[in-house]
Amino acid sequence: MTDEQVKKALGFLDETACRRLAVYADFLTLYNQKVNLTAITDPEGILIKHFEDSLRLLPYLPQEKEITLADVGTGAGFPGVVLLIARPELRLTLIEATEKKLRFLEELLAQLALSAELHHGRAEEAGRDRAFRERFDVVTARAVAPLPSLAEYCLPLVKTGGRFLAMKSAQGAQELVRSRRAIALLGGEIAGEAEYALSNGDPRRLIVVKKISQTSPKYPRPTPMIRKNPL
Ligand code: SAH
Repeated sequence: MTDEQVKKALGFLDETACRRLAVYADFLTLYNQKVNLTAITDPEGILIKHFEDSLRLLPYLPQEKEITLADVGTGAGFPGVVLLIARPELRLTLIEATEKKLRFLEELLAQLALSAELHHGRAEEAGRDRAFRERFDVVTARAVAPLPSLAEYCLPLVKTGGRFLAMKSAQGAQELVRSRRAIALLGGEIAGEAEYALSNGDPRRLIVVKKISQTSPKYPRPTPMIRKNPL
């Protein structure tokens, strides 16, 4: 992919960011031939469904420069690495349970000359670890789990006053109804929802949860319990 192709689709970014996204697209496509990271491999799919979709979070990030952001279940780096490219001063932590994806992310960050903390493990285990619990201004997640479980994975990581941004497809509305109780039990409050379409017309929904009080030490529970018996 060329810098110009990125610039045409995502022209609000500066040149360095466009160059980095072009490198990202090529490296993802190449690596994906030996290790399965994403089903979306055509240039337009990468530009819109991965890059544009991730960048839609930018207006929801606080303006302060050095905010801490954790991307839970980042996979091949979405939305976390794309946000870092747009805002290189972010203090980014990528949390991912699958080791092969971390190896990709490590090589990717080296190619992009950007740095982030890489954490191999499950978010709910990090949420019980003092080094991660209630440490982040923003926690993001895209395509990781249904919202009631996802809230228990993610909200314990958010500082009081911080935000959890859940990127969902159009079914997000029903999920939100089923998640109200879980969000409240975990110290969160639904602060807003946004519906929008990507430039190819695909509908998306973003759920914004504000952390209003500390999460009880009861949460997050062990993984099988979260899955079997969502709050
Ligand atoms: N966010 C990326 C990847 C989605 S696939 C994207 O939108 O393209 C979901 C990823 O989340 C997988 O890589 C899986 O290993 C990871 N994952 C699922 N549950 C997790 C958890 N509880 N903690 C950390 N990673 C998790």
